[in-house]
Amino acid sequence: MLHDKDRIFTNLYGFRDKSLKGAQARGLWDGTKAIIDQGRDWIIDQMKASGLRGRGGAGFPTGLKWSFMPKVNDGRPHYLVVNADESEPGTCKDREILRNDPHHLVEGCFLASFAMGANVAYIYVRGEFIREREALQRAIDEAYEARLIGKDNIHGYPFDLYVHHGAGAYICGEETALLESLEGKKGQPRLKPPFPANVGLWGCPTTVNNVESIAAAPTILRRGGAWFAGLGRANNTGTKLFCVSGHVNKPATFEEEMGVPFRELIDKHCGGIRGGWDNLLAVIPGGSSVPVVPAADIVDAPMDFDGLRTVGSSLGTAAVIVMDKSTDIVRAIARLSAFYKHESCGQCTPCREGTGWMWRVMERLVEGRAEKAEIDMLFQVTKQIEGHTICALGDAAAWPIQGLIKHFRPVIEARIDAYKASGARAAAE
Ligand code: NAD
Ligand code: SF4
Repeated sequence: MLHDKDRIFTNLYGFRDKSLKGAQARGLWDGTKAIIDQGRDWIIDQMKASGLRGRGGAGFPTGLKWSFMPKVNDGRPHYLVVNADESEPGTCKDREILRNDPHHLVEGCFLASFAMGANVAYIYVRGEFIREREALQRAIDEAYEARLIGKDNIHGYPFDLYVHHGAGAYICGEETALLESLEGKKGQPRLKPPFPANVGLWGCPTTVNNVESIAAAPTILRRGGAWFAGLGRANNTGTKLFCVSGHVNKPATFEEEMGVPFRELIDKHCGGIRGGWDNLLAVIPGGSSVPVVPAADIVDAPMDFDGLRTVGSSLGTAAVIVMDKSTDIVRAIARLSAFYKHESCGQCTPCREGTGWMWRVMERLVEGRAEKAEIDMLFQVTKQIEGHTICALGDAAAWPIQGLIKHFRPVIEARIDAYKASGARAAAE
């Protein structure tokens, strides 16, 4: 359980002064020059020692990613790009940082850029985030005015920070689609490799990081990688922002230590499950792109990357979607299928055709208007999509359906039986 002294985000709900003055009073921008003076390698080593894994969903180690940026200058500028295109269904954590604690991100951009030899960083903000973009821009303007950033800042490392406002496409949250969009093109994912560290924005070395990862960096560097690594457990260190929605008594976004068991997380921060723990049906623990987990499997699961893997799912963005027994689970997953069909960029055939195909079958399964053999056929189609597409959207569309079939096949079959029985009844009448 996280103690207040170990909390990184101390103004998540905006109850305190959001301005630069308030942020400084809470310890931000304190000793930034001393951190810079320790040098690039020291910063990257501290980030590695912290064990911080990317908070955008994939969990790739942040320090390692920073270390991929070329050490030798080949004449190409380096860039940091922050992914603030938070669009994963259920995910609403970066939004709170942008709204209420933006100086964590601004200082983090400065320190990360210094560590990677970038003099320019871009923050790509989700199209629908109007107020968030305004709050972030205010914080950046304040930092410029105080000469904390800028070409001639008090830290002696020239640095410019720009906000780019997206146009509201989920796929632009995929890092290479984001880079395409930032370059003024249609937001479609690129094939990887090459990874952005080698060929990124305008063909230059680029690191793309999530808002929460970058915003956590100043506190980690101030308190030391070992402090962060001492929270959570091995390979799953530190604190994390969780956003819990659905059938809990008090849905909320909050910071908690990694690895806390699901039941503890919900009881402490969300007032328990609506109607009590016996009323829990299933949980999608990491945003819509991860498999659904039935109640019996999730209650004691540690809420971190490895803990959720043992129950066949993933931490993803830590957007915890809780469903009680009033949920039509087939309809809930069909709704996600509609989302992925809508958001597919259409570039590769398995995703473009497959998301539409899966959605149409799912819509029939909601009514029970299908043959039982189609359940296996649907599962086979998800397997044909998984791992066969340019970006992770194909996998993301396949996994929720796989979870549904694995854990809730009897529910689907009962619906097919009921539909057939109603048809037989109607014919008899
Ligand atoms: P990924 O595993 O392909 O990559 C993760 C990061 O590590 C990327 O920055 C990538 O460039 C880097 N990387 C991976 N292997 C590398 C290598 N060998 N060399 C250099 N760099 C390497 O995952 P992804 O497609 O970036 O992200 C998928 C995740 O995004 C999903 O798990 C999902 O949870 C999440 N997601 C989040 C949102 C959101 O709103 N935050 C939206 C959609 C999806
Ligand atoms: Fe586009 Fe889907 Fe292919 Fe990703 S998997 S590139 S979203 S068609």
